[in-house]
Amino acid sequence: MKRRQITDGSCFIVFDMEWNQAIPGKHYDIDVASLSGEIIEIGAVKYIYRDGRLHYEDVFSCDIRPHYYKKLHYHVKRVTGKTNADLQNGVYLESGYRAFREFCGKDAILAGWGTSDPDMLKKNLKIRRMNDQLGIDFVDIQPLFSAFTGDKGHQRSVEFAVDYYGIAKSETFHSATADARYTGEILCCILNNNDTEEVLDTISKAIVNPDVKRDYSFVSPVGQNGEAAVDYVNEFIVKCPRCGLPLKMIYEPFRIRKSIYALGECAEDGEFYARARIKKGKEGGIYTAALMRLASPMDIWMIKEKKCEFDEFGVNGKPVTRPEDDNKDMSDDDKNVNVNGKNE
Ligand SMILES: [Zn+2]
Repeated sequence: MKRRQITDGSCFIVFDMEWNQAIPGKHYDIDVASLSGEIIEIGAVKYIYRDGRLHYEDVFSCDIRPHYYKKLHYHVKRVTGKTNADLQNGVYLESGYRAFREFCGKDAILAGWGTSDPDMLKKNLKIRRMNDQLGIDFVDIQPLFSAFTGDKGHQRSVEFAVDYYGIAKSETFHSATADARYTGEILCCILNNNDTEEVLDTISKAIVNPDVKRDYSFVSPVGQNGEAAVDYVNEFIVKCPRCGLPLKMIYEPFRIRKSIYALGECAEDGEFYARARIKKGKEGGIYTAALMRLASPMDIWMIKEKKCEFDEFGVNGKPVTRPEDDNKDMSDDDKNVNVNGKNE
């Protein structure tokens, strides 16, 4: 696949949004399941890349007046500090989004912290019957931060990264514009604190098309033993989730404790990273929950590390001295699942 290169003049739009949620039990004119959040604010900063640096250009800030969720959920009220009256002062998404896209201009690279903002934007556009094809490249800064700070696999908050780089906290968090500014400064710090070519190359590889579905999840039937669940998942993750053809496996499925990993390539659709978890059903029995996604550079680093661990220590993984490390990403209900009668 051809990668987009970052060159002098490349434009980055670092953006962030705030959204309101439906209040449980309240009646709405839409199916709330189709809209997990309604946008109430869009904030963005523009940077131009030149001579190894990002140069600040401009800022965009827009309060959006919701069509559906007009009363603030108490949680959103608390986090954003907004009031119900504030919502009435915004402009509707139709004109706010138009202004935002004018601010972005042509050929910009959209950047954000996590992937929930582009996903939420698409959902909002769709429900308003606007064109939900963003038609703009997107890069998630969160895994870039983790990769360049030796913190791979962790999902850190914007505030964590701001503290990490000692960025001055002059604005409160959780306003879209402030968070966009902070995220932009984090991106600058990543670039300024590391080898320029390496950062640019990593960004290039991490750029995705936000209009393409990237995540495919599935759950196996609940079985009496773990082997059936593992067999089920092992058959599933060696096929392309888009076209169904067998993947050319870069890493055949391997298991460390309760996790199964694999990496394979479809000539048509790209590289897919798979991770499945072996879980215990609520009413007994064992099942697997799997996620496959178009592999990011971070996914590829992570699976390489896991494969090294597997080659050295096998299915039990690296012995852990601190039990909390072993279980940090497991939910309580699947800590003690014994897959096939072996002591783990
Ligand atoms: Zn395919």
